[in-house]
Amino acid sequence: MKIICIGRNYIDHAKELNNPVPSEPIFFLKPDSSILPSRTAFYIPDFSDDVHFEVELVYKICKLGKHISVKHAERYYDEIGLGIDFTARDVQSELKSKGHPWEKAKAFDGSAVISRHFFPKSHFDDLKNIKFSLNQNRETVQTGNNRDMMFDIDTIISHVSQYMTLKMGDLIFTGTPAGVGKVYEEDVLKGFIADKEMFKVNIK
Ligand code: ZN
Repeated sequence: MKIICIGRNYIDHAKELNNPVPSEPIFFLKPDSSILPSRTAFYIPDFSDDVHFEVELVYKICKLGKHISVKHAERYYDEIGLGIDFTARDVQSELKSKGHPWEKAKAFDGSAVISRHFFPKSHFDDLKNIKFSLNQNRETVQTGNNRDMMFDIDTIISHVSQYMTLKMGDLIFTGTPAGVGKVYEEDVLKGFIADKEMFKVNIK
């Protein structure tokens, strides 16, 4: 399986990092080795002094497909969960300034938190109005709603599938809203879809 991540999909987040707003989806990959096993602490890696959390809705692909049209994209995902796209922001800034790929900053071990539980689509009254949030210790640091995505999941699936075949079990991280920030040792991060706790991660 592969993990596809969309960058700059919420205008307020693109602005907080002074990034231009994209005219088509930006995406990159994380390998399966980046998945943080559940109930495992996240250890801040030695190569970064500025690891950021990015909470994101995660969609699970349920069907093989390529060149998928926007109109048919909804058939290709069946479940929605929540994750964190941990990002070594200092490393990423350096890579970006050189025009290099982002993998060192985005694809390292443990950089993909994925909720154990995913909701089937039928759980949601409105698939285009899903609220999610992240708490850092006692404070809510990020809140988002997928209606604010610049590119919705159907557009993302269609776009990505023009370049690479989507397979059953692939995951799509759909971008983070504003409020990203640095993690510190002993932090506890909790992610929510609406009021339901989806994951809890201890930072070491
Ligand atoms: Zn992200």
